[in-house]
Amino acid sequence: MTAYITPLDNINFLVNDVFDYPNHYASFEQLADVTPDLIEAIVQECGKFCEKELSPIYQSSDHEGCYFNNGQVTTPTGFKQAYDKYTQAGWNSLSYPQEYGGQGLPQSLGFIRSGMLSASNWSFNMYPGLTIGAVNTIIEHGTDIQKQTFLPNMSDGSWSGTMCLTEAHCGTDLGQIQTKAIANDDGSYGIFGSKIFISAGDHDLTENIIHIVLARLPSSPKGTRGISLFIVPKMNTNQNGDIEGPNKVSCGSIEDKMGIKGSATAVINFDGAKGFLLGDINKGLECMFTFMNTIRIGTSLQGVGAAEAAYGLSLAYAKERLSMRSLTGKKYPDKVADPLIVHPDVRRMLLTQKAICEGGLAMVYYACKLTDTIDYHADESIRLKADEKLGLLTPILKAFLTETGFESTNLGMQIFGGHGYIKETGIEQIVRDVRISTLYEGATAIQALDLLGRKILLNKGKELRSLCFEILGFCRENSIFSLNPHGKKMQKVVWPLAKEVLKWQKYTITLMLKANKNRNLVGSASVEYLMYSGYLYMGYMWAMMAKTAHEQIAKNDGDVVFYQSKIDTAEFYFERIFPRVKSLSATMMKDPKNMMDMSEEAF
Ligand SMILES: Cc1cc2nc3c(=O)[nH]c(=O)nc-3n(C[C@H](O)[C@H](O)[C@H](O)COP(=O)(O)OP(=O)(O)OC[C@H]3O[C@@H](n4cnc5c(N)ncnc54)[C@H](O)[C@@H]3O)c2cc1C
Repeated sequence: MTAYITPLDNINFLVNDVFDYPNHYASFEQLADVTPDLIEAIVQECGKFCEKELSPIYQSSDHEGCYFNNGQVTTPTGFKQAYDKYTQAGWNSLSYPQEYGGQGLPQSLGFIRSGMLSASNWSFNMYPGLTIGAVNTIIEHGTDIQKQTFLPNMSDGSWSGTMCLTEAHCGTDLGQIQTKAIANDDGSYGIFGSKIFISAGDHDLTENIIHIVLARLPSSPKGTRGISLFIVPKMNTNQNGDIEGPNKVSCGSIEDKMGIKGSATAVINFDGAKGFLLGDINKGLECMFTFMNTIRIGTSLQGVGAAEAAYGLSLAYAKERLSMRSLTGKKYPDKVADPLIVHPDVRRMLLTQKAICEGGLAMVYYACKLTDTIDYHADESIRLKADEKLGLLTPILKAFLTETGFESTNLGMQIFGGHGYIKETGIEQIVRDVRISTLYEGATAIQALDLLGRKILLNKGKELRSLCFEILGFCRENSIFSLNPHGKKMQKVVWPLAKEVLKWQKYTITLMLKANKNRNLVGSASVEYLMYSGYLYMGYMWAMMAKTAHEQIAKNDGDVVFYQSKIDTAEFYFERIFPRVKSLSATMMKDPKNMMDMSEEAF
């Protein structure tokens, strides 16, 4: 298996040329120290860490898996050493607040780091990845004492975090959860119940694990309105963060599963464990959204990371493996056959992968800037606007990038032929690993309902209108009708994009009107609507990348082959991938009568 190589040129292109992160940071007083040199050093050093420490234990962690014995979980060989190096090098504390021992760097840089971790060793990244969600939830909803007690140790990595939602009978429908919280005399709660499928639920990397748990008070109403959120540490602590002894939390077992085998997926039992209310009573699900939103962007990076890793492997293989001759005559006459990369269909697969992983990374980096605006902008109305926009983009990022991430890794496997099915090549591991990403943290259908139901229909498409307005403005400024010197060359990308953005608005209004009369339409259209939206969002990113590449070539600044590859991939995207919007828009607008009228017996 080829080792992970950090795509530094792609990352730097996005950070510096396309999205101008240095000026973005400079626009916030609080981020004056985040200079271009610092950004470059972080990206480079984190890349080296991933290449040297994480990539070498990715495949072995799949062979070995996690080990469960007598209630104790042991992570695969090398994980503990890598985790210690990770925390000691300061990667864990990168974007946590300084007042709790973090380095106070922006969340966007934290996401850039997490992207590299996901691409080099997905399973390892689950442990610090879940902690980010737990930390953000405590920062947002915790009391001062809770923050002082838990955050410093989570920030330096000596404690980790989990998200405990799922129970055996419910994962999507959290209104059904049964875990109970009974008030103790000292203001804490006794937590009783069992959670399943808890990522990083138990392990040997940290001295304590802070579970963020959804549970129900006996007096609370049924359904989602009666759920509260609790901090439940594996080990009891005092307010200084010193460990006092075990809490009544135990690991019942870990799952034997399809992929991400180095990540322990645990049954966690709470037998009267001491827990602390986080946020208000019965507002648990709302508070948990802080956790879920962080993790959803993290999951989108897992989709992109897998696509990136698979592309690296399949590209190297396509250049090396010899098979038949090019249809237009021998390309390598000195060899017994030409390499796979000469064949049009192999190129179709490679370019689809390239378009998805580079376009996907751009989608995340574009959205990540919004997290900084939310955290640092002085104007509340601008913070709110950024929050609404990120709310619209998050379900698209999560579902679209995991679905296309899976498609992309599958194409990578296809390029390997039968060898792709054999463990040694490493590609089958990535295909198995990425499969979970469309299922957990809200399956694709749930993201789609969130997008169409909550983010579009509930606010009457306001946020979507403003995004469409922005994209149309970009298309106008870079079209043949503008003064832009690259307008003519950009026509191939901005023309189809602008035409479809106008339709995006039209379809949305039609769906809104029809949904008023037929609620099933929201459910039947939603996944196709989300994928349709994803292709438009990715199209916008490819148009931006093409524009930047044209400008860089005109300036004669840098690697022309690299910039030309961006233009070629953008044009490929609009010729061969973007037209999928036509079929999606045709099916999403169909009346669901046929599906819904069929009797259950007839299936
Ligand atoms: C490896 C792994 C790690 C995990 N990590 C965690 C974790 O850290 N913390 C945690 O709490 N959970 C975790 N989970 C659980 C995961 O989030 C759930 O499995 C997921 O939310 C789906 O829930 P479910 O399995 O109960 O499926 P169900 O809720 O039974 O759903 C089954 C299918 O039906 C669809 N469906 C359900 N309701 C609707 C609807 N109304 N409309 C349309 N479609 C619908 C779903 O999309 C899904 O495809 C993990 C799971 C795995 C396998």
